[in-house]
Amino acid sequence: DVKKNHLNSYQFYNDSMRQAAIKKLYFENDLKNALINQELFLVYQPQIDLKTQNLVGFETLLRWTHPQRGVVSPSEFVPVLEKMGLIEEVGLWVVREALNQFTTWSAAYQLEGVSISINLSAIQLRSPKFIEDIEAIIQSSQVDSQSIVFEVTESMMVEDNFRNNKVFESIQNMGCRLSLDDYGTGYSNLYYLDRLNLSELKIDRQFILNIDVNESDRLIVHHTIQMAQSLGLHVVIEGIETQVQLEKLAEYSNLIIQGYYFDKPLNQAELMQRLEARKRIQHWPQKS
Ligand code: C2E
Ligand code: MG
Ligand code: MG
Ligand code: MG
Repeated sequence: DVKKNHLNSYQFYNDSMRQAAIKKLYFENDLKNALINQELFLVYQPQIDLKTQNLVGFETLLRWTHPQRGVVSPSEFVPVLEKMGLIEEVGLWVVREALNQFTTWSAAYQLEGVSISINLSAIQLRSPKFIEDIEAIIQSSQVDSQSIVFEVTESMMVEDNFRNNKVFESIQNMGCRLSLDDYGTGYSNLYYLDRLNLSELKIDRQFILNIDVNESDRLIVHHTIQMAQSLGLHVVIEGIETQVQLEKLAEYSNLIIQGYYFDKPLNQAELMQRLEARKRIQHWPQKS
């Protein structure tokens, strides 16, 4: 009897493992086709200066329209692209595409002083040609490198420290800025904040979620803002969704807000509409 149960559970384990493996294979295959069929596209989330209520930048975010499943989140497929060795290629495409689109809007809507942020994956930094490739793309684009911000996470600074630091230095030597994304969810290592010549810190949405009711979250955000600003960093608050959350931040004179309260990530057509409205009223328009 024991033997039989054993056999059954082994059988079951094996089946579910097989199913998971098959699902994974399908997903990977779909993703390969996504690149061939150009199913990836970019959306852009505006970043607004709290005080002036004007646009200061956009974050570029990757999307995939799966033929059956519809739009799939990058949190789901970027890690798979990384494992499949495809993130280098996709990452360069993101930079090329984002800079191209940014050039179009800059010309049409006076975007002086507005920056374009692009997320980097740790795997991209390991590629020996990374800097060379990025530099070539920036040079052949019409975007001033001063308007480009690369978003990195703390794990990239810890991992293979020396090499990555060289890469970060090269990014800055090109004139681009570095932003530390998802701050507060990783090591929150204060050492890197000062040593890496960062320009910007993005406080993670996790601390904003309950900022209107949770006093300790508010205090954490408060002290993080103060610390970062006294080190000369710009601070971006991620994930503001409501007026009440925003009111908790009203006292700060220099803050950049990125969240659904102002805008969800927008496709090209939606973004052009918003820029069109901004042209008429001279500040970032309220969501309609
Ligand atoms: P992230 O860089 O931290 O991007 C911010 C995420 O927060 C985005 O999710 C954005 O849609 C979401 N968000 C912004 N405001 C709000 C809000 O008010 N409420 C809520 N609930 N969410 C908000 P998204 O677009 O799903 O991207 C997830 C992650 O995928 C990104 O996190 C980034 O780590 C990664 N990612 C996206 N695009 C790229 C890319 O081009 N390359 C790489 N390597 N990673 C990317
Ligand atoms: Mg980001
Ligand atoms: Mg983030
Ligand atoms: Mg993230």
